[in-house]
Amino acid sequence: MRTAVFPGSFDPITLGHYDIVERAAPLFDKIVIAIGQNSQKKYMFSLEQRMEFIKKTFENFPNVEVDHFEGLTIDYCHSKNVHFILRGLRNPADFEFEKAIAQTNRELTKDNKIETIFLLTSAGKSFISSSIVREIISFNGDYELLVPDAVRV
Ligand code: ADP
Repeated sequence: MRTAVFPGSFDPITLGHYDIVERAAPLFDKIVIAIGQNSQKKYMFSLEQRMEFIKKTFENFPNVEVDHFEGLTIDYCHSKNVHFILRGLRNPADFEFEKAIAQTNRELTKDNKIETIFLLTSAGKSFISSSIVREIISFNGDYELLVPDAVRV
């Protein structure tokens, strides 16, 4: 079974994330959207809310699941016996950042390789980020245009 873990904060899930999952779903037997929970970090939405938004968004995708974890993504992948990490690339800044993480993860998983698979964001979705969505929400702007219908505050 070819499973990919799509890790992230998803605070909240956006149409950019949706685009990546929708396009990756046919490429894998299963996609696990895994919310990385860092106890030091402040989130706008609780873990329960973020899980619920994602569950509802993908309720009609039989091979998409939602989970959460604390700690390193590679440790989570090992615990699930998953060998692929899925990430989205929006721009050169994402590329540089993701390159360092992916190469580190390969180095750290020498004996039990985990490969990171990247999809480029569709044109028209690459400007979307959870942090901008949070900013719009906090100033009562039209965040609905940037997120799946399940995300309502
Ligand atoms: P993190 O805190 O790990 O960056 P995010 O929830 O912000 O978590 O992002 C998770 C993944 O989704 C990352 O691979 C990121 O590059 C990707 N992503 C975020 N926004 C978009 C977008 N608009 N288009 C494509 N991929 C995106």
